Amino acid sequence: MNVSEILERRNAFSFEVFPPKTDVGMEKLCGEGGVLDQLYTLNPDYISCTYGAGGTNVGKNLEVLKKIQNDGKAIPVTHFTCIGNTKEGIKEQLQTYLDNGINHMLALRGDLPFGWTGTGGDLHYATELVKFARQEFGDKFTIAVAGSPEGHIACRSLEADIAFLKQKQDNGADYIMTQLCWDMDQFRYWLDAIRAAGIWMPVDVGIMPILDQAATINMALSRNGCVMPRELCEIISKNWIFPNPFDKEPFDADVAGKKASFKEAGIEYTIRQIDEYRACGINGIHLYALNKFDDVARIAKEAGLLDLI
Ligand code: FAD
Repeated sequence: MNVSEILERRNAFSFEVFPPKTDVGMEKLCGEGGVLDQLYTLNPDYISCTYGAGGTNVGKNLEVLKKIQNDGKAIPVTHFTCIGNTKEGIKEQLQTYLDNGINHMLALRGDLPFGWTGTGGDLHYATELVKFARQEFGDKFTIAVAGSPEGHIACRSLEADIAFLKQKQDNGADYIMTQLCWDMDQFRYWLDAIRAAGIWMPVDVGIMPILDQAATINMALSRNGCVMPRELCEIISKNWIFPNPFDKEPFDADVAGKKASFKEAGIEYTIRQIDEYRACGINGIHLYALNKFDDVARIAKEAGLLDLI
């Protein structure tokens, strides 16, 4: 069964990892008894691996995915961005994935990396990438696309963003993986709106575990403009590390204590958020594992995700 068939049949559960920059990081993720081996013990339906826009980490991305494919314990899904790339380059890379048995992709536009000096490439939007992949490879790939419940940061309106999501479906996409969203009222509104717009693709919800103050603020505000509900803001404020959570040498007397209590409150918050998502009628939960095991394993177990399989 491919991932979109699983999502249509029952709720799925999956992880996201990223390609480490160093050999030590690769060993920790892909080595024997490493994080991937540990994640398999939770029986995820699939594991996706991110891709550096502009092709900056193609080698490591493929190495991680090849391990997942060869181990045969979960379906490997590659993220893939078209920005900055030529049609020939895209075709070649997609063929390499297929040659290695990797036939699931999250088709993204991507953002040009800082300092990028090349052109924008041949394809400008994920809609075009989906169309191109279908033209060149037919049904060989199961194709996921990004959905932004709060609207993509650059969209002219939520309605326009939903129209482009419909276009991704019309061009041949199979399912949606959502952008981070903590605003549940907005999520419910978006879910109703996409269904009203004729988008029937299953919705696999991306969840970033709340484990670290700086990472949480960074994830919300550095790119996506995510709304933080009052409850999450309170968790951050109550555990604020002075002068601020980004400072490498904080003068706060209780850094370790605050980090620990933030993490505990964050894990509980994440679990409650998963409960709320599951009650909305979504099709899957996609947990950002952040290349770690213990905390995401606890979240998956306590949220009841292991019983979905
Ligand atoms: P698109 O769907 O192309 O949308 C981009 C903008 O253009 C939107 O504002 C949209 O409304 C508008 N638009 C879309 N289609 C058209 C059209 N045909 N004409 C005019 N306007 C249009 N980035 C990475 O670099 N690597 C990753 O591994 C990665 N993984 C991600 C995983 C998930 C689940 C998500 C949600 C995002 C991920 N991203 C990743 C980030 C993503 O690349 C950025 O959010 C990027 O800015 C937009 O990608 P997209 O596919 O949503 O773009």
